[in-house]
Amino acid sequence: MRYTPIQATLWILAYLALTVLPVLVAYSGSIPEARGFWIEFGVGLGFVGLAMMGLQFVLTGRFHGIAGTLGLDSMLQFHRQIGIVAVILILAHPVILIIADSENLAFFDPRENLPRAFALVSVTGALLLIVLTTLWREAMRIPYEWWRAGHGVLALFIVFVGLVHILQVGFYVSEWWKQGVWVLATGAAMAMLINTRVIRPMQMKKRPYRVSDVREERGNSWTLGFEPVGHSGMRFTEGQFGWLILNDTPYSIQQHPFSFSSSAERPQQLEMTIKELGDFSSTVGETPVGVTAYLEGPFGAFVPDRESGRNMVCISAGVGITPVMSMLRTMADRNDQRSVSLIYGNRSWEDVLFREDLEQLQQQLNLEVVHVLSQPDEEWTGEQGRITAELLERYLPPVAERPEYFVCGPEPMMDSIEPYLRNRGVPLSDVFSERFKIV
Ligand SMILES: Cc1cc2nc3c(=O)[nH]c(=O)nc-3n(C[C@H](O)[C@H](O)[C@H](O)COP(=O)(O)OP(=O)(O)OC[C@H]3O[C@@H](n4cnc5c(N)ncnc54)[C@H](O)[C@@H]3O)c2cc1C
Repeated sequence: MRYTPIQATLWILAYLALTVLPVLVAYSGSIPEARGFWIEFGVGLGFVGLAMMGLQFVLTGRFHGIAGTLGLDSMLQFHRQIGIVAVILILAHPVILIIADSENLAFFDPRENLPRAFALVSVTGALLLIVLTTLWREAMRIPYEWWRAGHGVLALFIVFVGLVHILQVGFYVSEWWKQGVWVLATGAAMAMLINTRVIRPMQMKKRPYRVSDVREERGNSWTLGFEPVGHSGMRFTEGQFGWLILNDTPYSIQQHPFSFSSSAERPQQLEMTIKELGDFSSTVGETPVGVTAYLEGPFGAFVPDRESGRNMVCISAGVGITPVMSMLRTMADRNDQRSVSLIYGNRSWEDVLFREDLEQLQQQLNLEVVHVLSQPDEEWTGEQGRITAELLERYLPPVAERPEYFVCGPEPMMDSIEPYLRNRGVPLSDVFSERFKIV
């Protein structure tokens, strides 16, 4: 699915409305007497910060209705950025209240109320921990799966202590219906988590797949084929991705996102192509044919507009070719003859993932491929180095032609090409980016 700017704006407005809802609730019904600007401001930040923290469960909940319009990957990026803002707001809440009135320090004083002080000190620690482990997970050498599990537990703890704190202080929520709103909102956030971790895996269990093929590819990569067992498979749009659980229970924390590399016209023969990178991906080549896999999806808004048939410019490097490969294979199955320019970066000619498949697709499609090698051997006469703005200037069609741009590759490439396209005057709505690294 693709999003329209109107749909995306509506979701953003809904998000903003929900973040200020606690303040609106606080200022409805019987309102207690105001206590000075800084106190009220500090309280407001706490309310908004906690609402944002609760909404984080929606952003990570992989809901098709929302993820289909905004793109799950963009939502997870947003989750990461906005999470930091939420933590800052929540931490600013006690700081401002204590500066405005030092008597508020009593909230952290164990002599006043031991369980309360313990909970508030612990939640402050949890807030700091959640940010530090997210920003510096790799430096701290925390495996991704353990980080993800711990991240969820910390977030639950923060939301739960926040709710108890609000109900205990009770200044703005003395009426029963206001307390009800907070309890319901927190319950909804918990329900999202239960849905992601329990209900969805239960549904996946009923739709297993069998690994039907394990093929070695160039560039230290492997293609896995999946055959639906007892169901019709998964219909996806070319360019989308799914979460893969391999040879494990659907409740496993070892779930990894991979783009489909096969044609969207063949839902019975799903394929994902995986580059050996870390503890999970380095073992996929050893997967025995016949083992069970679970796929959740499809997700993502990195998809071409089928209806308009607009020309495409694809800029990929390394394994970032996988969603583009799915687009090209789908076009071949549909005999879609729109023009596609693919600028494709790799280390060496031997490393070029799908090299032979691309040569074959060039016979079938209106496809131009420009290979860019960063470490070519001496015989190489094509483009060398990285995919730079200067190189793109030579190959990209004029902006006025309004092709759709698909960019997928390593972080540094994405970080340089996205602003380049913006500065070139390419409208934001024409550029689709897929980042393989969420956190
Ligand atoms: C939308 C999307 C599509 C992707 N498509 C492909 C593809 O087609 N082919 C391919 O080879 N790779 C793809 N990736 C990247 C792939 O998910 C990671 O390389 C893989 O999960 C690494 O796992 P690991 O345990 O082997 O490596 P690790 O060394 O544990 O992780 C390396 C990095 O991968 C990311 N990662 C690890 N586990 C997860 C997880 N469970 N969920 C999200 N991110 C994780 C983290 O940023 C981590 O730092 C895609 C990623 C995303 C977000």
